[in-house]
Amino acid sequence: MARKFWIGILITLTIALAGVSYQKLLRNPRCAYDGSPIAPIYEVDIILKDTSVRKFCSVYCATQWFEKNTLSVDHVLVTDEIRGNKIDSNMAYFVESELITNETNDNRIHVFQLRQDALTHAEKFHGKTVDDPFFIDE
Ligand SMILES: [Zn+2]
Repeated sequence: MARKFWIGILITLTIALAGVSYQKLLRNPRCAYDGSPIAPIYEVDIILKDTSVRKFCSVYCATQWFEKNTLSVDHVLVTDEIRGNKIDSNMAYFVESELITNETNDNRIHVFQLRQDALTHAEKFHGKTVDDPFFIDE
């Protein structure tokens, strides 16, 4: 009886561990442009007309890809770097400042859900608000 109990525990633990590493894999996707790991707070998701999703580590990588594939893009979700909320790019405020979000590609474009957060950031890091880089002309 005791042995069965321990084997049961062992199996449960193995399944739990496998689940955790699988979720980690899902939670840390790689950038579709440069292959870097994606920090959730800077994630950009480009949703295509065929409903598939491309994930990017920064606004920089996403714009590089977007410029070549604009015609197949349906809409773009960006992440508010203060709260981590995903928002449609045409609802977001973009600020280009001296603060770099990503050392590998020198991304300086920051995303905010609230205008006040954008202005505060711009003031603190000598930035200026910029237009939505994912504007889709329809
Ligand atoms: Zn990237």
